[in-house]
Formats: sequence, structure tokens, C-alpha cells
Amino acid sequence: MKAIRRFTVRTVLPERLAAVGDLAANLRWSWHEPTRRLFERVDPVRWEALGHDPIALLGEVDPARLEQLAADEHFVADAEALRADLHAYLAEPRWYQGLENAPARIAYFSPEFGIASAIPQYSGGLGILAGDHLKSASDLGVPLIGVGLFYRAGYFRQAIDRDGWQKETYPLIDPDGLPMQMLREHDGTAVRITLALPGGDAMHARVWQMAVGRVVLLLLDTDIPENSDALRGVTDRLYGGGGEHRLLQELLLGIGGVRAIKSYLEVSGTPAPEVFHTNEGHAGFLGLERISDLIAEGLSFDEALQVVRAGTLFTTHTPVPAGIDRFENGLIERYFSTGLLPGVDVHDVLGLGREDYDGGDPGVFNMAVMGLRLAQRANGVSQLHGDVSRGMFGQLWPGFDQADVPITSVTNGVHAPTWTDPLMVRLVHEKLGTYETSTADWASDAISDEELWFVRRSMREQLVTDARARVAAAWSEENGSVAPPSWMNELLDPDVLTIGFARRVPTYKRLTLMLHDEARLRALLTDPERPVQLVIAGKSHPADDGGKALIQKLVQFSQDPELRRRIVFLPNYDIAMARLLYPGTDIWLNNPLRPLEACGTSGMKAALNGSLNLSILDGWWNEYYDAENGWAIPTADSAGDDAERDMLEANAMYDLIEHQIAPRFYDRDADGLPRRWLQNIRHTLSTLSPELSADRMVAEYVQRLYMPAADAQRTIIADHHAPARELSAWKSRVRAGWSSLSVAHVESGGVESPQLGDALHVRAHIDLGSLEPDDVSVDVVFGRADEGDDLADVRTQALQLVSHEIGQPATFAGTVPLERSGSFGYNVRVTPRHALLANPAELGLVAVAH
Ligand SMILES: *Cc1c(COP(=O)(O)O)cnc(C)c1O
Repeated sequence: MKAIRRFTVRTVLPERLAAVGDLAANLRWSWHEPTRRLFERVDPVRWEALGHDPIALLGEVDPARLEQLAADEHFVADAEALRADLHAYLAEPRWYQGLENAPARIAYFSPEFGIASAIPQYSGGLGILAGDHLKSASDLGVPLIGVGLFYRAGYFRQAIDRDGWQKETYPLIDPDGLPMQMLREHDGTAVRITLALPGGDAMHARVWQMAVGRVVLLLLDTDIPENSDALRGVTDRLYGGGGEHRLLQELLLGIGGVRAIKSYLEVSGTPAPEVFHTNEGHAGFLGLERISDLIAEGLSFDEALQVVRAGTLFTTHTPVPAGIDRFENGLIERYFSTGLLPGVDVHDVLGLGREDYDGGDPGVFNMAVMGLRLAQRANGVSQLHGDVSRGMFGQLWPGFDQADVPITSVTNGVHAPTWTDPLMVRLVHEKLGTYETSTADWASDAISDEELWFVRRSMREQLVTDARARVAAAWSEENGSVAPPSWMNELLDPDVLTIGFARRVPTYKRLTLMLHDEARLRALLTDPERPVQLVIAGKSHPADDGGKALIQKLVQFSQDPELRRRIVFLPNYDIAMARLLYPGTDIWLNNPLRPLEACGTSGMKAALNGSLNLSILDGWWNEYYDAENGWAIPTADSAGDDAERDMLEANAMYDLIEHQIAPRFYDRDADGLPRRWLQNIRHTLSTLSPELSADRMVAEYVQRLYMPAADAQRTIIADHHAPARELSAWKSRVRAGWSSLSVAHVESGGVESPQLGDALHVRAHIDLGSLEPDDVSVDVVFGRADEGDDLADVRTQALQLVSHEIGQPATFAGTVPLERSGSFGYNVRVTPRHALLANPAELGLVAVAH
């Protein structure tokens, strides 16, 4: 019989084990190895079987066992020491506490958070990145508050049927079985967040609270009796449904999220956020809720917009236009014509998301466009992706060169304590006396080649064991009690060069590029002297049959009896699998269509464990590849079409494996060690570990974006928002007057036959129309000029006002040093100038000489 309802009865721990309960309640256990080992001691078999989930473990463990542990002095003392360590971690000053004037709090919004495999609230890279962001923020002492949704079913569980076809199931998650608590008012009633909907309806949500180390994470959940069945389903699953369902999720995340923070602040009495960071466009409505609040304080929409922009950061994650949420205008109109956002006019909302540029669709509302208009600061997630984003969104700043579009980049990083295998941590701790793998001296003689290679082999073996268990379990699921075939016990070999490849399966990631020349791949896999083995995993979007067909093609290829020990597709890629997969591979393969991989983080996680990367020069690899940390697959940009490009890139990949990677891996000395390969490992660990760590990323966000945003926010709200009112009025005046401004005439002199070291004198006469000299910056823009007169290596030099007579053009002048020989070109550019602008391109207004 099936149960009609299922819930988890929380264990009551013996009083002497209270520390164990406290440790389970804070998600620091997801990355704190000593705490994980304590849970393992509770019941090692169940700990494994339950996927390292302490709440489930404590729920299922035999009460007699708990009594036994409560009587065990050592165990109790260890638990208490760990709890004391946790309390110290939560309270002690860390990196951030050494900064001056840093924001009192930062709110971080994301539609998904990947923190631990026991909490499946993520689908892939975006969510794992958000989880890593919270964890590093906690480690650095950054006062972040995370905001997301609680999904009843999370992302799907993947199985592969006999024909190689992906099947999805959506196991329901019981909130009572997770380390979280309902947010309650002082009087104990549950906090309710309410959003007004069309037709007088309303959507209600409760708020869950998780402790991720020092960081609080709030998750909104509509599955409560106050809602109709349809509204209870709004948070049913991650990215469920299309149009309206998605819109409801995003309204809840953005608008509901800000309301949840307000409730949390009231209850906790802690400081309010000064900066709002939106991880991709899905949470963009948060800015509208803040505008509504400011309108209630007496500001106009446009004045409120200035305040919100000052303290908002928008991070874009996709260079693929199809990856951006767009809604029909009609839908937005319907939802925002209600009492949803008091004081906010629906036409102002529509204007923020309008694609009013060349090639835009006037009928849709674009969440990324709104995100950029609501944020004074924006970034992509690798240098290359920053550049691609400047190109992709450049039409919002017409007249500016791509390089001047105000979108910067912060390259992603990964949380080292989560993603470094405990065997590596143990090695560093034993030999170097530190737990900090990302700053350890991996070149040190204190770690011998033998020891390092032994750990690398152990991690490969761990992966082999795990892969066999997963394949056997998948077999049993499909075939019931029939025993798995014996070859499954010989699947993979812990001494063979192992290549890993795991990703979601959108087309640009090219899951099946490796199958381009099946005969060649077969030869690599079955080489008698230098064999290669492949471990592959990945989920296709449930609605993407094309992606499922790619998985099927790979699975069918891997079923060939001659190959099946050397190539395996592991179903259900998730955090638990990933933690064994990355460390167990010698080579991490990535072959996206450049430049469509915004950053890519799986290769980073592999590198932290000493795997070498083999990748197209895309995302992070484009800036970190240095010929010693792996191999670059050359991009066939000149290929005539996609098929030719695939062929060229696949062949380059086979060539690298055959002629460089396998020979180096199998080149052993008398001690059986691949010394050259080991050098590459040490180089990778010592140079990349600090760079790829999420601590580096979060520190960059703090210093380059959060701190300036908090400053801007403080300045603009001073004096009852006077600067915001002034800025708003100034922007309207400048926008209105801009068409009357032009560069009338430019003169230069001071160089007869120019030589290095000379100075060029420039005078620019600017017809200001209705504007004042103080409203503008006049700059010489100069650099190398190519044959088409396009400037490269561009620099700018401000010109100073020298005269301004009524009725005459204003004259600006200055000198430009000629510091480089060769062709030189310059132009004069006028942009709006105001102390509260973060960037000269901000208004999208520019005038140049012709
Ligand atoms: C890191 C990770 C990803 C993202 O990897 P990318 O290389 O950024 O695509 C996806 N899923 C899991 C389980 C991960 O650990």
C-alpha cells in the first residue's frame, strides 16, 4: 500500500547529544570535514546509504545507538568540541571585519542554491555557484543574506532506461526533513508574505530559514493551505512550466524576497542590506518592490529608481539569448495593474523591460534588460564573458564602443573546502600542517611525488568504486532482483588515464563531440599500451528531446561490449557524484562552442584536486590556461560551417589525447612515477588553487562592487534622498538637452613631425545647446589607428574648460602625450558628467566629432 502522506518525525536526541543536533542544524557540516566525520561515526553504514545527510541520519538511527553514543565520553567530548568550534566560527572576526565602511549587509538573490546533495534545490552551475558564494561569504565573514525559493520537488532525478533514454522523477522533499526552520513573528505565528494578484486574488508564502555557516538563507514557499491548489504549486519545482508559472515564481522571488527580508529584519533586529545582488535576471523584480517602498516615502518613480540603482548589482550568466527570461507584455501588464506594487505605474514597469533598440521585440518584457536598468553596476562571470556581454547588451548604450559598455566581469570561483577531496586535505594537513589547500605550497618537497601520486591514484580508485556501485544500482533499478552482470565489477580501471566530462546537455556544450570519429575514439579507449577511459554524466532539460537523444547516443556507444569497461555514462549527476568525479579524473574535458560557456566551474573543481584541463579556450580557461596546467583545444573560428568546426575541433582533441596527454601520463620512471605529469599537477595546484577559489571571487565582489555600491547608496539617500531627487532632475534635463549638443570643431597642434615624447595640444569647441559646461565631460580618446581608422588600445584624457561665452561654443583644451610610436589616431568625445554616475556610459548618451 502507498502512503497518502508522508512526513518526518524529528528525533529527540538524548540531552548529552545536544551538540550533535546543533551541528546538524547549521549547514557548515556540508563543507566541514571534521563535522562530517563525527556524523559518520554515528552510523557509518547509514551515513553512506543516506547520502551524507545528517538530518536523515539522526532521524533513522536506532535510539539504542543514540543512547550508546550518549554514554560514550569520547564521542560526547568530540561533539562538544566541534560545537564550540562552530560557535567560534560564527562569532569571531574574519577577513571582512578588517574592512572599513563595508556594507552592513548584502542581500543575494538567486533562483537556486546548491549547497549539499541532501538539499536538491539546484539544477546546475548557477545554483552551485550561488551555494559556493554563500559558503565563501561565510568563511570570509561577509554579512550576506541569501534569498531564494523552496521547491517541493527541486530538480529532477535522472535515470536512463534500457534504450538509453533519460527518465525524470521528481521526489518530493519534506521540509521537516531538512535543516531549516520556519520564520516566525515574536509571538510565534508563522510569517506570511502576501502578493496581490489579478482579480483580487492573492498569493501567500511562508519563509524557511537556513543557516549556512554565518549566512542566513531565506526560502519562500507557497505550499500552504491559504493558497488555492494552483498557487500552492508555484514553488512546486525548479524552473517548472513556462510563461505564467515562471512569472509567478519570479514575482515571489523578487518582490516576496524583499518582503521576506523586511520580516526577517523585524524579527531579528539585525541591520538592513545596503546592497542588493541579483544572481541572473530571475530575481529582478526585487528592484520594483524597493521602488514601491521609496514611493511610499514620497519619492517619484524616477527618483526612487536612482536610489535602487545605486545599491544594486546585476550579474549576468548567459551569453545565450535563449537563456534570458522574456515575458509577453500583456502578461506583465495584467500582473502589475493590480495592487501588487502600491504606487508603481504599470507603464513605468513595462518601460524597464522594453527592448526598445534595433533588433529588439517591442512586444516582450526582457528580464535581463530590466536587470541592467535597475542596477548601476553589472558584471559577467569571466573576462571573455564580460566582453561577450558588452557586445550582447551593447544596444542599451548606443553610440559607445563595445569596450565602453558598463558591464565589468568577476570570474567565478569555487568553494575549496567543499570541492577539495578530503584525501588532498589530509595530505596537506599531514605534510604542511595546514587545512588551507588553496594557499598551500604544493611545490614543497615536504610532499613527495610518491605521496602525491598515491593520493591521486586513491582518488581515481574512489571514483572507480563509486562508478561501479552506481552502474550496478541503476541496473538493479531497471531489472529488479536479477544480479548485475559480472563485467560491471570490472568497469573502469584505477590505473588507466581517466577523462571526465559532465555537464548539462544544451547544444552548445556539445556532449557528443567526442563521438565525432567513433573509430578514433574506439582506438584511444582500447589502446593496448596507453588506454584511456571516459566517465561521463549530465542531465538534459526534461523538455529537450534533442539533449536526450545526445545522451542516448553516448549511452548506446558505451554499451558496446568491447568498450563498456572503458566508457561509462553515470546517471543522475549531482553534488554527491561531482565530489568524487572531479578528484578522480586525470583530465577534465570541456568542449563548448566558444564563446558560449560563460565561465564553467567544473574544470575549476577538477583543478583544485590536481586534475589537468583539456578544454576549448572558453570561459575561465581562456584567461587561466598557461600550457603547464593542461591543454587548449584550438578553436576553429575560420571553419566554414558548424560541421566543419566540429570536425576540426574534435580532431584537435583526439590529437592532443593521443600525442601529448597519453604519452605524458604513461611516461613512468624506474619508480613507476610520471614525473613530468606530476610537475603539471603541482603547477596546477599551486598557481590555480588561490585563483579559482570562491574566496578570491567573493573578495573581488566585495571590494570592486559591493563597497562602491554601498557608498553610492549611502550618498544618494543622505539628507532625505535629496541627491536622488537632484540626480533624477539632472538626468531628465540632460536627456532632454542632449540632442542640442554637438562637437562644433576640433583643432590640434604642437606637433610638426611628431616624435615619441612630443605632446599633442587639442582644443575642442563644443556647442552645448541647453546644457552647461559642468554637465559634460569632454575627453580626447586616442590610441593606435588601423587602416579603417578604428582605434585600438584606447585611452582617454580629459580636456579642461578654457572659455565659455554666452552664445558661443564652449572651448575645452588639453594635451595628450605621444608615448608610443606608430600610427596614432584620436577623437573627441562628450559624455554626461555627474558625481553620482558610476560610469561615463551610464546614460547611454555620447557625442563625438565627425
Ligand atoms: C559544478 C557543477 C556544475 C556546473 O559545472 P559547469 O562546468 O559550470 O557547467 C553542474 N552540476 C554540478 C553537480 C556541479 O557540481
